[in-house]
Amino acid sequence: MITASLHEGAIVLDPFSVRMVLGIVTLTLIVLSAASSRRIRSTSTTWWRVALLLFFAGNFAFLLNGTSFLAWANPPGKALIVAGAFSIWAGARALRERKVSAWQISPAPLITFLASAMDGVESSLWSGGLMYLGMTAAGLGMAAGELWLAKSAQSRMTKFLALIAGLTSLYYLGRGVTFVLEGPDGSSFRTLFGYAPAALMHLILLVSLSFTINSLGNSHLIKRLRERAERDHLTGLLNRGAFLGLAEKELAGPAAHQNAALILADLDYFKAVNDEHGHAAGDAALRAFAEACTASVRSTDLVGRYGGEEFILLLPGATQQRAEAIASEISRRLSAMADPAGLPYPTVSYGVTSTGAKAADLNFMISVADAALYSAKAQGRDQVVGAESVEPLPTIQQRP
Ligand code: GH3
Ligand code: MG
Ligand code: MG
Repeated sequence: MITASLHEGAIVLDPFSVRMVLGIVTLTLIVLSAASSRRIRSTSTTWWRVALLLFFAGNFAFLLNGTSFLAWANPPGKALIVAGAFSIWAGARALRERKVSAWQISPAPLITFLASAMDGVESSLWSGGLMYLGMTAAGLGMAAGELWLAKSAQSRMTKFLALIAGLTSLYYLGRGVTFVLEGPDGSSFRTLFGYAPAALMHLILLVSLSFTINSLGNSHLIKRLRERAERDHLTGLLNRGAFLGLAEKELAGPAAHQNAALILADLDYFKAVNDEHGHAAGDAALRAFAEACTASVRSTDLVGRYGGEEFILLLPGATQQRAEAIASEISRRLSAMADPAGLPYPTVSYGVTSTGAKAADLNFMISVADAALYSAKAQGRDQVVGAESVEPLPTIQQRP
């Protein structure tokens, strides 16, 4: 329970109780964060978990302030809190893809420890107080700056944490200034900047930190799940659903009024590959074809596995001629590759269609390309058949 007592006319929170509450809440946050750690792993969140532990250990050491353990518990306590502040900074830097090594973190807590240990710690729990306050303010201030600049998947959350770290840093700056002006026994220092209100600031900071760890972990997880849901497991290409969704968007988007071409590809006599060389050889051929596709198109083109040994490509901005050339290029690349056993990969048949400046209907384009593909198969396979989709009805032109 947090108790308050009147001290020289001002309400002063009971430091021991506040610190107990802080300890219990921090411990709960640590346990919660450890329980969810398997799905959340990044350099930032690891640093921040370390920060939670350091703050917990530091505040735990401060619980011994009134006891005979003060002399050996207090300097490490201050050093641990400073190390915690710098760990928040390290995590924020990692969020910006910047590395931090242990030697960048260790000087501040080390100096804090020495300043406190050499400043008559037996007589005062505020030994080396100014160094401690200054270093904590510095660590948190630097963390706030890095967090503010970080472009994370949860930018609103990291901006909020930047704000909290910044405010806590300012608070520590205020503590430092008041500490110099009136000392640790001054009335405004005790009321506003004493152990108890500082512990409340820690509480706000650590709860915000733990919430950020969690939401960053969740958005990381959602991103990974989305990637998995959109990709074909064998080839790494877009799966049918993801391809259709993205292609619809592409054709309806800002580029809707330019050319676009669609290619349907089907591996020839693929069943025979499986039957004669085994399913693994079939899988290797599918992967090789996917590789040949991605190597032949631009990164903005869409490549998907339509199903089984059928593939689909959407090339925004490409003309019919260009798309047919790309289909031939894919086959050329594939024929230049060989499977692990040295066997040639199967040949491929293609149906190609394209649209002019008119808004195109994806399903219509697919049905036209499919008819062209059927025609390529009928003409003996291993070829590209183009069918320009002239609105409103397609006329299929067959190219030998
Ligand atoms: P066509 O030239 O007419 O296209 O003949 P095809 O043998 O390629 O066509 P068919 O549709 O008869 O056979 C397709 C085969 O693709 C049958 C199926 O077992 C195989 N297949 C589909 N998906 C996979 C896969 O993921 N891995 C492997 N190894 N084979 C697959
Ligand atoms: Mg086939
Ligand atoms: Mg097929």
